[in-house]
Amino acid sequence: MYNHIGVVATCSIWGFYTNLLTHFLPAMANKLINRSYIKQPLLLFFSTFLLLAANGQNPGYTHPPLTDKWDDYQQQVKKDSTKKMIELKTLIPGVIYDLRYASKNNFMKRVMYPVNTRLTYLRLPAAQALQKVQQDLNKKGYGLKIYDAYRPYAVTVKFWELVKDERYVANPSRGSGHNRGVAVDLTLVNLQTGKELDMGTGFDNFSDTAHHTFTNLSKEIQQNRELLKSTMSKYGFTPYTDEWWHYSIPNSGKFEILDIDFKKLKKDL
Ligand SMILES: [Zn+2]
Repeated sequence: MYNHIGVVATCSIWGFYTNLLTHFLPAMANKLINRSYIKQPLLLFFSTFLLLAANGQNPGYTHPPLTDKWDDYQQQVKKDSTKKMIELKTLIPGVIYDLRYASKNNFMKRVMYPVNTRLTYLRLPAAQALQKVQQDLNKKGYGLKIYDAYRPYAVTVKFWELVKDERYVANPSRGSGHNRGVAVDLTLVNLQTGKELDMGTGFDNFSDTAHHTFTNLSKEIQQNRELLKSTMSKYGFTPYTDEWWHYSIPNSGKFEILDIDFKKLKKDL
């Protein structure tokens, strides 16, 4: 409800705002933008603002085709038995598990897998190759310790949502060897002491020191890495340049990206 003064006041305020919008602000903006010391921060401010606004809408990846239904997975296995997911201890009883994403002992300092995830899986050919690696190593007094193998796609998305940096986590657009059940993160243990061999860095260390090409390491560390690499390669695994612990089997394209949770796989054992 307007009284007289109110209308006059509104009119004069309206006039003031119109003036402000049509003359004063554009003139000010022009003046400001023409000063280069202000131009850059201003542009930076607006581009950051736009980027943040866009980020809110955009997850930063596109969904690849994936298998997330148990029946579809079973159909795929029926057609091609090499696609079966094998719980590693069923094939390699002596293998040691230290499933880092099932605990807080990982670079995220968060439990990324469902509580009580104690089993881990790989596709049949990768599991069989790993069995041979273990048998070979056992003869020399060593064994394998697994940090991670199959990782459901939903967990890769969770990593991405928390980190959004391709230096540390895989962009979900492509899916990873872990999602396909063909990649494994692992190290060597001494069978007598049960201790891990010194590899120079821990698991998920994202520095140059973890690269295979990094050689400023003690002779012992270099030999330990070489033993893991040569034995894994002997049975068909490919190393990953930037991570001494990550290996996968080649031609992984035929294995679908899976988003089947651990519980369902466990029921199938
Ligand atoms: Zn890995």
